[in-house]
Amino acid sequence: MPFPVWYCRECGEIKLAEEEDLPVDPLVDSPKSPCGCGSTDFEPEKDVLDTWATSSLTPDLAIELVEDPEVRKRLYPMSLRPQAHDIITFWLFNTVVKGLFHHKGIPWENTIISGWALDPEGKKMSKSKGNVVEPRDVIEKYSADGLRLWAAGSKLGEDLPFKEKDLVTAKRFLTKMWNASRFALPQLEERNKA
Ligand SMILES: [Zn+2]
Repeated sequence: MPFPVWYCRECGEIKLAEEEDLPVDPLVDSPKSPCGCGSTDFEPEKDVLDTWATSSLTPDLAIELVEDPEVRKRLYPMSLRPQAHDIITFWLFNTVVKGLFHHKGIPWENTIISGWALDPEGKKMSKSKGNVVEPRDVIEKYSADGLRLWAAGSKLGEDLPFKEKDLVTAKRFLTKMWNASRFALPQLEERNKA
């Protein structure tokens, strides 16, 4: 939806929508009162806000899910924003600006910056290139824990090329851990009883 703004065709004055009327689509709705010059002939704004205008409200949108006003107060600033490095200047910066504007403070105490999963050659995955690895297929073959273990092996802020042999290693390691736990746990239970 475009900015809720019109321009007077007579004198060029800017007309803003009234706050209580929002949301307003200037292409569909007309101003409720004439321009200061008396004209009712307006040119609607066509430009729209980009997606970050809404995405930057994520802390506020999350807090709105909580009903208790006392709990709400404690939720801002939040403790952690997890996100990847590609949208630092979009999601992160926009949310900080909104936080300063609406709350007079930063939206979170810490940010964790992750990287991307790349294709085996270290190139970005894209549908058009046909080099996308579907997580669902990986989970089916190597289990969800296998995929988690692989992803946890990345460094903060760094990309991680997807190499199938790493998943083979992850699954083998997890199988060993599982078998060792199944052997050890009953022994420990006996020990605790004694
Ligand atoms: Zn006017």
